[in-house]
Amino acid sequence: MSRVYNFSAGPAMLPQEVLQQAQQEMSDWQGSGMSVMEMSHRSKEFISIATQAEADLRELLAIPANYKVLFLQGGASSQFAMAPLNLLCGKTSADYFNTGMWSKKAIAEGKRYCTVNIVASAEAAKFTTVPEVDEWQLHRDAAYVHYTPNETIGGVEFADIPDVGDVPLVADMSSTLLSRPLDVSKYGVIYAGAQKNIGPSGMTVVIVRDDLLVHAGAETPAMFNYKTHADAESMYNTPPTYTWYLAGLVFQWLKRNGGLSAMAALNKRKADKLYAAIDGSDFYNNPVTPRYRSWMNVPFTLADAELDGAFLAAAKEANLLTLKGHRSVGGMRASIYNAMPEAGIDTLVEVMADFERSRG
Ligand SMILES: *Cc1c(COP(=O)(O)O)cnc(C)c1O
Repeated sequence: MSRVYNFSAGPAMLPQEVLQQAQQEMSDWQGSGMSVMEMSHRSKEFISIATQAEADLRELLAIPANYKVLFLQGGASSQFAMAPLNLLCGKTSADYFNTGMWSKKAIAEGKRYCTVNIVASAEAAKFTTVPEVDEWQLHRDAAYVHYTPNETIGGVEFADIPDVGDVPLVADMSSTLLSRPLDVSKYGVIYAGAQKNIGPSGMTVVIVRDDLLVHAGAETPAMFNYKTHADAESMYNTPPTYTWYLAGLVFQWLKRNGGLSAMAALNKRKADKLYAAIDGSDFYNNPVTPRYRSWMNVPFTLADAELDGAFLAAAKEANLLTLKGHRSVGGMRASIYNAMPEAGIDTLVEVMADFERSRG
């Protein structure tokens, strides 16, 4: 069986080495006589897997000791509610940046619990940019500031970490966590669904500063309370054991490959190649302000949308799959997370040039 280059936004490609290791260990994990899927989450075998995965993630991101790492279910989407449920602490408002479709979802959920102040919105610019700092309206009495560093659908990424003073900064990093080194100490809460850059779907990684664990209201459900999971080391109930294990294999793969600074250099090179191909042609277009272009999700349109189907067919012919853009943006979207090999980008760039020559 030959592997394709899968440009899906998520669930996305996993490193082939990781899949092969999982395959080898599938029915007998390291002499235990059972699959990781069949293990009690309280067994010493699984606890060793879970502990190692957390230690490796902490090392990769240099997570300070005063942060807890939680491995939860419910997807990044549950965090849209968990953030207000844990962080409002008697306050009545929170600040949100509106930079795309995922921001909007977080905002809609936040509105169930508090007054949402929009710090700045890129909606009038059709979410093709990040509002400049002098347009931001931050509120000192906000319980927290929420933003989406990388908008997976629009392909827009903040160039810097917003400076929000003492108000806890909350970030939905679903499609950018682990793409490069990160200064975790600038954040109150970081969360990310696993299926973009961490592992298979079914798990959300939450990194939360420990002084924020005491702020949940009494009505916050136990399962939606960060403290429940922090106190129980993410084993209050059955965690997503197999996804946790696979994420651990991905963390080890990242460490073997030079960690996040090596990943950043590779990701930048991959993204630069693709944007250069788009910008170097009159046939392809990416609408995002260059400074805010995502390293992970690259939307692009063809000069003639009637040719979209033919382009997708030509791409498929070359083993390039799942390039169809999100319905709200149209055209194509190449999601190029850590596990997308550089050869996948090279092939895409060749197919784009060939297609433009023959059909453009
Ligand atoms: C994919 C994605 C989500 C949704 O994640 P689920 O795990 O499906 O809930 C949220 N935010 C961003 C930025 C995403 O890319």
